[in-house]
Formats: sequence, C-alpha cells, structure tokens
Amino acid sequence: MTIEDCRADFPITRDLIYLDSAATALTPKPVVQAMVEYDLRYRANVGRGVHRLAAVATHRYRDARDAIKSFIGGESGTLAVTRNTTEAIGAVVNGLDWRRGDRVATTLLEHHSNLLPWLRLRERGVAVDIVRPDAGGSLDLADLEAAVRDDTRLVAVTHASNVLGTVLPVREIAGICRDRGARLLVDGAQSAPHIPVDVAAIGCDYFCFSGHKMLGPTGTGGLWMREPDLEPLFVGGGSIESATADGYILAPGEERYEAGTPPVAGTIGLARAAAYLREIGMETVRRHEERLAARLIDGLAALDGVTVAGPDAPGDRIGVVSFTVEGMHPHEVAQVLDEAAAVLVRSGHHCCQPLMEHLDLPDGTVRASAYVYTTTEEIDTLIATVEEIARRAI
Ligand code: PMP
Repeated sequence: MTIEDCRADFPITRDLIYLDSAATALTPKPVVQAMVEYDLRYRANVGRGVHRLAAVATHRYRDARDAIKSFIGGESGTLAVTRNTTEAIGAVVNGLDWRRGDRVATTLLEHHSNLLPWLRLRERGVAVDIVRPDAGGSLDLADLEAAVRDDTRLVAVTHASNVLGTVLPVREIAGICRDRGARLLVDGAQSAPHIPVDVAAIGCDYFCFSGHKMLGPTGTGGLWMREPDLEPLFVGGGSIESATADGYILAPGEERYEAGTPPVAGTIGLARAAAYLREIGMETVRRHEERLAARLIDGLAALDGVTVAGPDAPGDRIGVVSFTVEGMHPHEVAQVLDEAAAVLVRSGHHCCQPLMEHLDLPDGTVRASAYVYTTTEEIDTLIATVEEIARRAI
C-alpha cells in the first residue's frame, strides 16, 4: 500500500483537515473491521475457557500481542498490554522497589505523564534530577550524562517530543545508563507511531506507548520490558500459575501483568494497526512526516508575526510543529483555524506546562501534527490560513 492510497481508509479526512494526530490519530477502516469481527464472530474471554470460541479468541489475542511486540522489535522481551502510555509508565513507577536515597533522572521535555509520576516519588524519599534543554528546547547530551550519577536507578526520557517534534538520541542515552548501572525508560508515545522503533537496538529496559496514537483504538497501549522484573500492580484472574488458600504463584510470562480480562478487541485492533503501518512501511512514514514538517516550518517561519518553536536545527524529527501568532492566544488561533478552514489543531500547553514555562511560552503554542493521511495540500491550507489570521484578515 502506498501512503497516498491509505487516505481513503480514514473517512474523517473527507470533510476535515485533521492535524491533531499527536493527541490521537485517526483509525483506518481495517482496524475497525478487525475489532468488529472479534465482537461479531468469535467473541469470548481469553486464556481460560476450553470451548471453541475461547480457543479462537485466545489464539488471536496472543498472536495480536506478539505482533505488537514484534512491531517495536521487542521479541526478546515481555509486553504487557496497558490502557495507554500513562498506565505503562505508572506500572514501572509502582512496580519497582524504591529505596530512600534512590535517584531518578529525567528531562524538562517530558509530557506530564513522564514527569509527574517521578515527582510524586519524592514523597517516598527518591530524588529527581531534571535536565533542562536550552532556551530553544535542545537537550545537550553532556548535561544528561552529568545528571546520571552512580546512585541513579532509573533514567526516564521521551523518545520524541510531543511539543517540538524533536527525536532524542535514545541509543546514546542507553549507553550512558549502561555505564552507570541505571535502567532506562523510554516514553515512546510519539515515536512508535511515527518512526521505526527497535527496542532491542535502543537498549532500553522499558518502552511505553499508546495504541490510539498509532492508528489503533483508544484504551490500548503497551509496556515492553527487557526483563519481567516489575512487581505487577494487580493480581487476580488470569495472572497466576496456581493459587491456594495460602498464596499463589504468578504466571511466568506476559500474563502476570494482565490480571483480569484484557482489552481483547482493542489488542486485536492495535495489532491490525501495527500491520497497517508495516504495510505502508515505517521508513516511508518517517520520510513523509519529515517532508511535511519541513514544508510547514518553512511556510510558517516566512510569515510576519508567526514564530515556530523549537531548536533551529532539530536533526531527526517527527511531523509535530508548534508555533505562536503574535498578539493572539493559541486557543484563539485554533478556533479560527477550525471555523474558517476546518483545520483541526491542538492549542495550549500540550501537557508540558514546565517545558512551556522554560521556553517562555506561558500560554502554550498552536500545534499541528501530521500523519500518514496528511497531504501537502492540507499543509498549504494551514499555512495560508495562518497567514490570513496573522494579518487579521479573518
Ligand atoms: N508521552 C507523550 C510524549 C505523549 O505525547 C503522550 C500523549 N500526548 C503521553 C505520554 C500520554 O499518552 P496517553 O494519554 O495515551 O497515556
């Protein structure tokens, strides 16, 4: 399938210019069909029953989980299905046995979901070191290296910024962590959907991502672990090998992290989304977004009264671009874009309030985020409409 062909699978793109994919992506018809098929043709609970539907559902569910694992290059590790990235990060925060005096290092580029859980650990005596990017949002690896000390137990970084679109050098960061004996958690909410990801090659310990940002259904995500070394947050049905009145033995594999009935339709839908992205090719997705982002940045930067946020030379990036219009609140710009041209963008702090303060953008930004279904014409419409808005013509 070519990237141009896929647009027909996203009916919302017929009437609207959807440039809010970093918040949640649209879902193509084959993903919806895969979920409907489970519900209408072989719906049953998984992992328990012996009847024929239970066997089919269990088989398809496990295959789906394996396919998602393989999509991120994680065959060698363990993948727990979660509701989203936030829940996956929470499973790490709450699944490790923190001791007073432990340290965590993270950055000011993080989404609240990869910052607030660590700040909360301070209540348990864990110190949190936050590495600041420069005024343009560029992170100096030497600063990060300096923040990873011998008593740092874990480093938590985003793979790609949901505000600036910049991609962090996570392989190098993994090397630093290895040298210091710290574990590495990578927030892949914005990388798994947009660039080829190979968790084994990165060398991280935990990789967290959301299904709904990668063409899959809401309520799905994943926590990949190099080793299944976390205490599960919940125990109960489906997560044990055996139980007596005195105790229980946890299941050895993925199941130990999936107490209770998992999102079966959602996981099957997410695996279909991963297959769909594979059909297009993740390298093609990356190049498509890079091209659209470059066009958008050039177009916006040339406009009077418009400023693009982020480093001047961001290097690798995804199709997320943040900007401001002089004298106008980002929400106002977003509202006019919708009303005047059916262009849907996000505005505000994007769950990155500390970063916004740091970049001296207290009202936040307007954020346009492209994906596989986004066309050059849509980007041009956005630029032309922003030009009119900046001239106060609309
Ligand atoms: N991290 C990043 C970088 C994100 O962009 C997001 C979603 N905006 C999250 C974490 C949280 O994802 P979710 O809401 O699916 O848990």
